[in-house]
Amino acid sequence: MTLLLRNARLVDPEAGWDGPGDVLIDGGRVTRVAKTIAPDGAKEIDLGGLVVCPGFIDMHVHLREPGQEWKETIATGTRAAAAGGFTGVACMPNTEPPIDSRSVVEFVLAQARLHGVVPVYPIGCVSKAQKGEELAEMGDMALAGARGFSDDGKPVASAGLMRRALEYAQIFDLPVIDHCEEPTLVKGGVVHEGEISTRLGLAGWPGVAEDIMVSRDILLAEATGGAVHIAHMSTGRAAGLVRSAKASGIRVTCEVTPHHIALTDEAVLGYDADAKMNPPLRRPTDREALLAAIADGTVDAIATDHAPHHADEKCVEFSRAPFGVVGLETAVSICLDRLVHGGIVPLARLVELLSAGPARVLRLAKGSLKPGSDADVTVLDLDREVKVDAGRFASKSSNTPFRGWTLRGAAVMTIVGGHVVHDAR
Ligand SMILES: [Zn+2]
Ligand SMILES: [Zn+2]
Repeated sequence: MTLLLRNARLVDPEAGWDGPGDVLIDGGRVTRVAKTIAPDGAKEIDLGGLVVCPGFIDMHVHLREPGQEWKETIATGTRAAAAGGFTGVACMPNTEPPIDSRSVVEFVLAQARLHGVVPVYPIGCVSKAQKGEELAEMGDMALAGARGFSDDGKPVASAGLMRRALEYAQIFDLPVIDHCEEPTLVKGGVVHEGEISTRLGLAGWPGVAEDIMVSRDILLAEATGGAVHIAHMSTGRAAGLVRSAKASGIRVTCEVTPHHIALTDEAVLGYDADAKMNPPLRRPTDREALLAAIADGTVDAIATDHAPHHADEKCVEFSRAPFGVVGLETAVSICLDRLVHGGIVPLARLVELLSAGPARVLRLAKGSLKPGSDADVTVLDLDREVKVDAGRFASKSSNTPFRGWTLRGAAVMTIVGGHVVHDAR
């Protein structure tokens, strides 16, 4: 079917477009972009007053399948992605069993083909069973369709293993995605180590534990020529390290989450387990440094680290609750409200952080609406006011610290390969 998106403001930083434009879609691809296109029998969708962007990609999501389907499945997680404006998600391998072999990569891709609402890009483990001892079968997984490697949920504690992972991943031109946590410094910490952790009597997770791993792995990326991607960067020092490493040509990229953009460790003052995540919410100065790194081009992607947990699991004493917050259905509104309406970045930069940026890190031929591209489209209403209602999430879980927040701006329509998979205009 031929589809014609009309009357929108088209924002595609990869193509250098920002202005009124019509987009013609045929056979799952963009076939034409112009100021106005005559319908010629195409099905018209009038998007007057809205913004059309290349489809957003969330490069850091936990789908919980296989193994913890009561928290999320590939079906519910990709439904949540579509509802949140994402046309693709990369899923982390800390499932049960973990994604550490060709057969589990193939299982995830098969489930995604059968039940997925948006495409899923599996990330394979760095180490077998995420034990940090020997490398997983990275080559086999890459051939089966893995888009990167990570022991996310856990750090790669051994520098020797990380070195070999960076060397090996290069052969497939894929990144190693780094959960930066120096384990002997974190030792059971549950919130940022500082005045608030002391006041609350909770074990601290110090920022320096992240900074040490970021510097170690930047040095290893330089030594090996491999590509390291810093997941959920949370400290100002880490942002500075990435900025100067990039300036000296080292292959390092990084992502920041919406919760680290919008919150600080003050959010844990009420012992709300929905504000417990890893890495923890940091100080206001860290948050400001992350915003500066987003504005100056240091940050490559915004990713949610969508980490669903059942309410019963979160509803325990703070130190015993699992880490993680859901993010797929609040991310775009948080970013529009705080980053664009907050005057931190222009809309085009936010679109880049959510589309071309993550596509580049994962080596996906996505992130633009130039003719010939896959017809993955996210439509935004910049002024829609949304109140976060966790009871209405498509995700199976509702562990969000943004419950009840009112935000300006929302994703209102999601198109994958020329098919409308979500429409809330
Ligand atoms: Zn992580
Ligand atoms: Zn994660």
